[in-house]
Amino acid sequence: PDPLGVHLRAMGIGGGHVAVEAVDVTESHRLARVRRDFVANVSHELKTPIGALQLLAEALLDATEPVGPDAADPSEDVAAARRFAERIQHESTRLGRLVHELLELTRLQGAEPQPAPEPVAVDWVVAEMLDRTRTRATARQVAIAVGGERGLTVYGNDNQIATAVANLVENAIIYSGEDTTVSVTVRSDDEHVQIAVTDQGIGIAPTDVDRIFERFYRADQARSRSTGGTGLGLAIVKHIASNHGGRVEVSSTLGGGSTFTLRLPARPPDDLAATLQSAEI
Ligand code: ADP
Repeated sequence: PDPLGVHLRAMGIGGGHVAVEAVDVTESHRLARVRRDFVANVSHELKTPIGALQLLAEALLDATEPVGPDAADPSEDVAAARRFAERIQHESTRLGRLVHELLELTRLQGAEPQPAPEPVAVDWVVAEMLDRTRTRATARQVAIAVGGERGLTVYGNDNQIATAVANLVENAIIYSGEDTTVSVTVRSDDEHVQIAVTDQGIGIAPTDVDRIFERFYRADQARSRSTGGTGLGLAIVKHIASNHGGRVEVSSTLGGGSTFTLRLPARPPDDLAATLQSAEI
C-alpha cells in the first residue's frame, strides 16, 4: 500500500509519450482487509463449537462401547448410534481442519503481523516434516526417502516453511498408491535452496495443473473429496513461498506421478521482513 492510496500504472509508451492511469487502491485495500478480518473472525468463532462437537462424538463413542456379554452383538440401536457418532467425529474433524487452514491462509495474507524472518536449518525442516507426516505415511504404507544436500539454511519463519514442505509431502502420500515411495530431495545453487517432493502417484492432467494452487480447486473432485482434504493445502504452500520471496513449481504427468519443487532464497533478502509484513495476495 502506498501512502497516497494511488497506484500510477503505465499504460503504454510510444512516440516519446507515456500514458499514465491513476487507480485508487485505498478502497480495494480496505475491502481486502475487511474480508480477511471477517474470515479470520468467523474461523476463530467456529473453533469452539467444532471442538465441542468432536468431544461430544468421542463421549458418545465411549458411552456406547460394547462391553460385557453382549459385546459381540450390540443392539441395532446402539450399533446405529455408534455409526452416527463415528460419522459426526469424521465430519467435525474435517470441518476443524478446514477452519484451521482457512485461518492459516488469512494469517498468511497479512491479516495479522507476520513473524520476523530468521535463519532456518533445512535439516530441521525435513525432520519436522517427517514428524508431521509419519502417521499418514504409515497408514498408507508409503515410504519417505530423503536425499540431497545437508546443512543448508533458508530464511523466514520456521513453522511456515515446515508447513509448506509437510503439505507437499502429505499430498504426495495421499495421491499415491500403497507401497510406493515419496522422495524428498534438497539441492542448492548460489541463489536458492530447492526442496523437491516426487511421488509415484496419480499425477495431474495438463488442464488442471495451472489451477491446483487456487483455493478449493481440486483436480479429480470425487477422488479428492474422499481423501478428506480441504482444497486449501497448495494455496497455503503458494502463499508461504511467495511471502518468503520464493516460489513453488509442479511438473506432472497424468498417471505418471508428480514433482512439486519449493524454491526458497538461500540468502536473507534485505526486504524480506517488509515483504512478510505487507504481503497482499
Ligand atoms: P486437497 O486438500 O484437495 O489435497 P490441495 O490444495 O492440497 O487440496 O491440492 C489441490 C488439488 O491438487 C488436489 O485436490 C489434487 O487434485 C491435486 N494434487 C495436489 N497434490 C497432488 C499430487 N501430489 N498428486 C496428484 N494430485 C495432486
